[in-house]
Amino acid sequence: MLFEKKLFPTVMAESFRDVTPEFVKGMGGRALICDIDNTLVTYDDPVPTDEVARWFDSMREAGISVAFVSNNERERVELFNSSLGFPAYPKSGKPKTKWIKAAMEATGTDESAAILLGDQLLTDAAAANFAGIRSIIVPPIRDKKTLFFRFKRAIEKPYVKKFVRIHGIYKRG
Ligand SMILES: [Mg+2]
Repeated sequence: MLFEKKLFPTVMAESFRDVTPEFVKGMGGRALICDIDNTLVTYDDPVPTDEVARWFDSMREAGISVAFVSNNERERVELFNSSLGFPAYPKSGKPKTKWIKAAMEATGTDESAAILLGDQLLTDAAAANFAGIRSIIVPPIRDKKTLFFRFKRAIEKPYVKKFVRIHGIYKRG
């Protein structure tokens, strides 16, 4: 039960596409603290797809700030962010909260207005819960096939199932 509290996101959504500026604002969000890998693109996409770039445009136009907090390497994060120029924190060590707090500061938000978007309960949702912010979790776009990833997904699976059974999964109507 306690573990569940630390792993459950606020919302599960089918895709980042369903997380529109209106949806974020409806939650009272003014900043999105974004994971990159498997949340927005696959590990094999070095830069944002056109669709992801347009999605960021829509956030910007709506006045929603964005920052990246990624556990991936600096080079990956910097290249992905090069056309966007958002505050970005690589090698963040989520579920550690240090860089999430830095991202809140960089976006001028506090716990009530920052929302984390990610794809993993053990890193993303847990980090958000530890930092006292809300989170939106989407299913991974395409997982790595390493043993470590499979292990993490196996641990998450019953929690994902339970969450979806209780709260459902949001899809833009
Ligand atoms: Mg990820």
